[in-house]
Amino acid sequence: MTSNSRGLLTHSHRQVSLMFLLLVKFFIWSSFTLAATETSNLSKHPVVIIISYDGFRYDYMNKTSTPYLDQVKRNGVSVPYMRIQLSAFTYPNHQSIATGLYPEVHGIVANTMYDPLYDKELSGYVDEPGYWNFSSDSTATRSSVVPLYTSNELAGDGRYSGSMMWPAGQEGWGENNTKVTHLVNYNVSRWDWEWEVDQVMKWITHPTKPANLVYLYIEEPDYTGHRFGPEGPEIVQQIQRIDNVTGYLLTQLESLGLKDKVNLIFLSDHGMQEMKPLAIAKFMHVMDNTDNRMYHDYGRGSTFMQIRPVRENDTLRIFNAFNAAAKDNHYTVYLRDEVSKMKPHWHFAHNRRIMPIFMIPEPGYLFEGIAPRNYTWGTHGFDVDEPSMRPFFMAMGPLFKNNSVQEPFDNIDIYPLVCHILNIEPRPNNGSLERVLPLLASSATKASRMSLLLLAVLTGAVINVEAGGVINMIEIDFLKRTSILNEYEI
Ligand SMILES: [Zn+2]
Repeated sequence: MTSNSRGLLTHSHRQVSLMFLLLVKFFIWSSFTLAATETSNLSKHPVVIIISYDGFRYDYMNKTSTPYLDQVKRNGVSVPYMRIQLSAFTYPNHQSIATGLYPEVHGIVANTMYDPLYDKELSGYVDEPGYWNFSSDSTATRSSVVPLYTSNELAGDGRYSGSMMWPAGQEGWGENNTKVTHLVNYNVSRWDWEWEVDQVMKWITHPTKPANLVYLYIEEPDYTGHRFGPEGPEIVQQIQRIDNVTGYLLTQLESLGLKDKVNLIFLSDHGMQEMKPLAIAKFMHVMDNTDNRMYHDYGRGSTFMQIRPVRENDTLRIFNAFNAAAKDNHYTVYLRDEVSKMKPHWHFAHNRRIMPIFMIPEPGYLFEGIAPRNYTWGTHGFDVDEPSMRPFFMAMGPLFKNNSVQEPFDNIDIYPLVCHILNIEPRPNNGSLERVLPLLASSATKASRMSLLLLAVLTGAVINVEAGGVINMIEIDFLKRTSILNEYEI
């Protein structure tokens, strides 16, 4: 074959390729129009609902029958557990999930913490002014940290976010104080989970502002885990309740014809540790601190203790004193400026809200400061490397793998994952898309089969290998435009 004839052949193939391209595009357009007619109010963007069951430990599904959660696991992708951020509490970890940032970066290092900028202890429980609006710029009045539900709103083109009781979901963020379109404030006294699910269904099918990203928070089984501990019959009852609300969500989606169109991410913020009666980590006797002459302490009666020396020069002396007493009193002491060397994977040092000394008790022990409990109960906030602190993670939907178990990853990776799904440019973050890409189905492969089938129907043509190659190129173009892929995946 001469080079000229090869050129003609290539030209002829281009014409065929163009015809295929037009046909495929017609099919894709018509199938999407059809889908849009069936569920007219669903967002034109991929839809993601992130559901957090507070304190749902990685192994809770082994404790009882969970048919609906099993269904999610079977039809979706799961991991043995998910890694979380220090400190192992609700607000730091929900904020890390929403921002993809370590607590030392987003500034929510504990549920309550001292902030030298305000010279006071701030509490997320009462939504203290200044608690969420952390900025490394001490003169800034508004946080430069932007959760994904806000970035989704800012991305425009018909994107709307919902926050159902998600911690900090009620906050405005960024220069324009942007808030989510659909909001129910964080309020742990609300217990009607089916009502919450009903609202979320209304948000994603809203006639004019359908949400394509919703964060849904449910306060159990954390509440019961605290009250009765993670090993008793009470927690089993709550796991079954959680399974039932999962079933309710799946049923509602199915009745709306959305079950195969919405991507669901089920996760938790931390695990739960059984607490034995009267197991107390004592620290107050270590040195005379009358009238706070040596230090201020934050975290009495909890599992995370921050120590702020009155005089910076005393830091090492105070550390050494606590360190000498630590083993006998069931805790470990950390010098903030040494943490980067001792526990580099914690990323817990560079923030004004992390005090020069902090202490974490052994699992099962609580720092003194409240009346000792003479019964078994449960809590969290321990070393994040402890298995009891691990939460669960599962995901199901058109973009996730089926019946697949993958390697554990970090909760900060969910941010780049969801940005990827929604085709939103991620802000600088600490997560890794690479670690979570294995959760996603090979959409290109699925679409390839669909396109080949359609071409055969439309043209009656015998499609050769080369035409298949063209289709793959077209698919990639299509998938990029429809947010399913980006350059990275290709
Ligand atoms: Zn929690």
